[in-house]
Amino acid sequence: MEIDQVKSALLIVDVQNDFLPGGALAVAEGDTIVAVINELQEKFSFIVATQDWHPRDHGSFAANHPGKNIGEFIDLEGVRQILWPVHCVQGTHGAAFHPDLNTTKWRKIFQKGTNPKVDSYSGFFDNNRKGDTGLGNYLKNNGISRVFIVGLAADYCVKYTVLDSLSLGFESYLVADATKGVNLSPEDTKLAIKEMKNEGAYLIESKALF
Ligand SMILES: [Zn+2]
Repeated sequence: MEIDQVKSALLIVDVQNDFLPGGALAVAEGDTIVAVINELQEKFSFIVATQDWHPRDHGSFAANHPGKNIGEFIDLEGVRQILWPVHCVQGTHGAAFHPDLNTTKWRKIFQKGTNPKVDSYSGFFDNNRKGDTGLGNYLKNNGISRVFIVGLAADYCVKYTVLDSLSLGFESYLVADATKGVNLSPEDTKLAIKEMKNEGAYLIESKALF
């Protein structure tokens, strides 16, 4: 398909060291999408990225809840929260983008998860949908109506970014070979993709854009 540069954006979600092999919350084979994303970036003039950016005392970290383990659920300020290993702490190597990821064309980076009292999977809103990163308005103010979403992880941050993108009225495309899932349960990514499609997202392969 032809990319309409006036109204299209590439949105790169959380391609950070902690979500890549060797990181604290690694997505298996997550690094294999970096080259695909770099190739895709050559096709877009409008590119933005999100960055998981937690304070060390973030409420989603199991380590901040004595007696609780990774993978357990808690109530975090009224929102059901799964507990994660410590990851993407502000200013650390784990929070940095993969060194091979080309960042030269990025217009803006939207950081999320900065409020210790609520997690933020989506690049648009906190999980309680109160906090807003400003991404939605930024895209709209720049005339963007079509968003191509790539990055990590397909069954968490990418999924919620796609769902929020749809809810804000953006025509939303998930580039299937430019994302990978955590799969805490083996079917998670498959289910996430089904949910995104049910809500109106288009699933495409990167080669459709070349
Ligand atoms: Zn996080």
